[in-house]
Amino acid sequence: MKRILITGAAGFLGSHLCDRFIKEGFHVIGMDNLITGDLKNIEHLFKLENFEFYNHDVSKFVHVPGKLDYILHFASPASPIDYLKIPIQTLKVGSLGTHNLLGLAKEKNARIMIASTSEVYGDPLVHPQNEEYYGNVNTIGPRGVYDEAKRFQESITMAYHTYHGLETRIVRIFNTYGPRMRLNDGRVVPAFIGQALRGEDLTVFGDGSQTRSFCYVDDLVEGIYRLLFSDYVYPVNIGNPNEITIADFAEEIIRLTGTDQKVIYKPLPVNDPLQRQPDITKAKEVLDWEPKIDRSEGMKRTLEYFKSLSEEELYKSEHRDFKKTT
Ligand code: UDP
Repeated sequence: MKRILITGAAGFLGSHLCDRFIKEGFHVIGMDNLITGDLKNIEHLFKLENFEFYNHDVSKFVHVPGKLDYILHFASPASPIDYLKIPIQTLKVGSLGTHNLLGLAKEKNARIMIASTSEVYGDPLVHPQNEEYYGNVNTIGPRGVYDEAKRFQESITMAYHTYHGLETRIVRIFNTYGPRMRLNDGRVVPAFIGQALRGEDLTVFGDGSQTRSFCYVDDLVEGIYRLLFSDYVYPVNIGNPNEITIADFAEEIIRLTGTDQKVIYKPLPVNDPLQRQPDITKAKEVLDWEPKIDRSEGMKRTLEYFKSLSEEELYKSEHRDFKKTT
C-alpha cells in the first residue's frame, strides 16, 4: 500500500485530499496543528485502518516513522483575515515548514507536492495570469507574509529539485470553494453565504468591480491528483477561468439563497488584487485537465453544506485563540 503524508489535513483542501487518497486506496497520514484546521473535517476518517493523524506544527522538525511515497504540503493559513492575525506563523509554515518537509521527502525518497497560490502573482499586471508571469507583490503589505512565503516555498522546492534531484511538484491554486470552508475565515464565499443565511446584508468590499474566478473543490482535487502523477516539475495553475466581479457574485448569492437582503459597501482591504483569472492552458496540455463543475452547480452543493450547519455554528463568531500559536 502506498503511503502519503498530507499536511494541513484538517483544513478545507487538506481534508478533501485525504478523502480522495483514501478512496484511491492509499494509506493516508494526516498532519495538522489545528490553528486554522478543524478535526470535524476529518473525523469520519478516524475509524479507518488506513488513516492516521498527527497533531503537529510542521514548522518544527517533522518525524514520520516508516516509509513514505508521497508528501502533499497543504498546511498554511489561507485567508487574508487569518494571515493578518497570524503573520509570523504564516511565514514560518511556508518557509521553515516547507524546508522540513523537503528534508523529510529527501530522507524518505518521496515525491513532494507543495501548495502554491495565485497570490504569487500579487495584484497582477497581466491578465489572465499564466505561469510565466513573475507577479506584482508588495513584500511589506499585509498580504506579503503569505505571498512571499509562497514565493520562497516555490524557490526552495525548485532548488531541492535541481540540487538534490528530488521529485517535486508545484500547484498554483486559484480561489477555490466548497463544503468545509470555515464560515468565519473572512473569505468571500463563506462570508456571503453566511450573511445570506443569517439574514444579514452582504458586505462587498470596495466598489465590487474587482474580479475573482472560483473553482469547485472537486475539480481542484482532480487537477492536483493528475499533477502529482504527471512528470511535470514546473508550476501549474489550477483554477476555474470563469471570472466574475464581486458585486455580481453578491447578486448571484442573493438569488441562489432567495434572501431579500441587500448589498452594502465597505472599504477595500489594502492590496486587494483587482483582477484574478487563471490561464489554464498548461494544465490542459500537460494534465488534460479542465474544470467540469460550473459555479451554479458548485454553489448549490456548497450552500447545502452551509445549510446543514447547526444554528449555533451559523451564529457563532470566530473564537480561535491564535495567541497560543508560536
Ligand atoms: N470580499 C468582499 N466581502 C467580503 C469578503 C471578501 O467583498 O465579505 C472581497 C475581497 O475584498 C476580495 C474578494 O472578495 O476582493 C475575494 O476575497 P477572498 O478573501 O475570498 O480571497 P482573495 O482572493 O482576496 O484572497
